[in-house]
Amino acid sequence: MATTDDENDFHEPHAATAVSPGLWLVATPIGNMGDMTIRAREVLRAAKVVCCEDTRRSGRLLAAIAATPERLMVVNEHTEHDAIDAVADLVANGHVVALISDAGTPAISDPGERLVRALVERSLPVWSAPGPAALIAAVIVSGFPTNRFVFEGFLPRDGAERRERLAEIARERRTCVLYEAPHRIERTLTDLAEACGPNRRVCLSRELTKMHEELWRGTLAEAIEHTRTTEPRGEFVLVLEGAVVISADASDADIVKALSERRSLGLSTRDSVDEVSTVLNVSRKRVYDLATSSAVPGAKGPKKRKT
Ligand code: SAM
Repeated sequence: MATTDDENDFHEPHAATAVSPGLWLVATPIGNMGDMTIRAREVLRAAKVVCCEDTRRSGRLLAAIAATPERLMVVNEHTEHDAIDAVADLVANGHVVALISDAGTPAISDPGERLVRALVERSLPVWSAPGPAALIAAVIVSGFPTNRFVFEGFLPRDGAERRERLAEIARERRTCVLYEAPHRIERTLTDLAEACGPNRRVCLSRELTKMHEELWRGTLAEAIEHTRTTEPRGEFVLVLEGAVVISADASDADIVKALSERRSLGLSTRDSVDEVSTVLNVSRKRVYDLATSSAVPGAKGPKKRKT
């Protein structure tokens, strides 16, 4: 699909006359068929083989755009590795192979990364037909900074890995984008509130581009309440505001302010100290000393040693 560069960077879709051989990562809609791009249709119609997670689901999509590949190949997290040789052979023989996922952009929390890496290692061509991705749709409407952001995908389910990731997110200054399943959203919000503090702001994007699309904005504490009172259904992207102040140079006034906020929300001294030392990246001792001084309203003072 070669195009020539000229002063005008926009090319008419029909300027592309042929789809180059290679593995094409083709984005498909995340809910609204209106988001299927013209190029995605062209590539899928030109593909000899379409790799997909679910042949029934993707079969319906391909039928809707009159794409009739010779073969659908199942590529999911279990089969992706085994598909590498077959895809590489097809591409090496000059064929067009397309990779789509159930929704959105392949290789983004979906199969694709391993196939791409394997083809790159073999110096075989890989192309993209970009389009919908839930993370981009969610971050651009979040209201949080978009000049720099991090994509965390799905958090590890349990254990030390999850705790470490949560601690990293708590310190992260950039806007942070997470995917989550509806039945785990409340737990993830609760864990995030513990790690980042209940006041951290969040934007929940639900059912993006679909009929019941909803954007909800508030603090993590409010988000927990919101998901408790309204049964969370559909697909969610969680966009978290970056840590507002993280500095080894945090002043005593910064620390006292952060502690007072947490105390006024009912957090114990211990939890407030843990959270503030993480978020402000200052030693726990320094935070504890300030928390137990008279600087923080409601401070109880250090525990006295028994004599
Ligand atoms: N590759 C996809 C993409 O480009 O966004 C993501 C696939 S991942 C397996 C599925 C997750 O993406 C869902 O659990 C949800 O977090 C998010 N997602 C996908 N479609 C969505 C939508 N329409 N609204 C909100 N979140 C969506």
